[in-house]
Amino acid sequence: MHAPDREAQAPEPVLVSACLLGCACRYDGGHNRDLALEQVLQQRGMQAVPFCPEERGGLSTPRPPAWIEHGGASAVLDGKSRVITDAGADVSANFLLGAQGALELCAKHAIRQAFLKERSPSCGVRQTHVAGELVPGPGVTAQLLVRHGLSVHGVEGRRPQTARES
Ligand code: SF4
Repeated sequence: MHAPDREAQAPEPVLVSACLLGCACRYDGGHNRDLALEQVLQQRGMQAVPFCPEERGGLSTPRPPAWIEHGGASAVLDGKSRVITDAGADVSANFLLGAQGALELCAKHAIRQAFLKERSPSCGVRQTHVAGELVPGPGVTAQLLVRHGLSVHGVEGRRPQTARES
């Protein structure tokens, strides 16, 4: 028996932070379109499923910047910390709703990996914002996906087409 040709295989669906695909859903109304990521996904036979957890959670765009109050994303998921805006408003429920929405979308499309925008309090993978500072650790959505066994990859965003994805 021969393995099926790559061309004959259905593309693998992967979750991608919508701002990395050019969606103007950043807190400041901008985007982080990453041409190198689009190129890599195409080369690997992956189909991007765009998703913005903060918009899914009911937050408008533009919106105030927010960060995890203390601890980290796990503390937020466990109800031991909050996500607050720079004005002190509690947006934890929005962040949790968005994270749950990401998980449901992954289940619906049998998605096993996600490419997420670094440093976001939702999507960050290696770094996020806690108490107004950039610290090691994931955002709320990334942490929930990891808890459920998905592979998450942090993406810087705004790279030209010639850059390479690790
Ligand atoms: S980083 Fe995540 S939450 Fe922030 S705009 Fe991009 S997709 Fe939305």
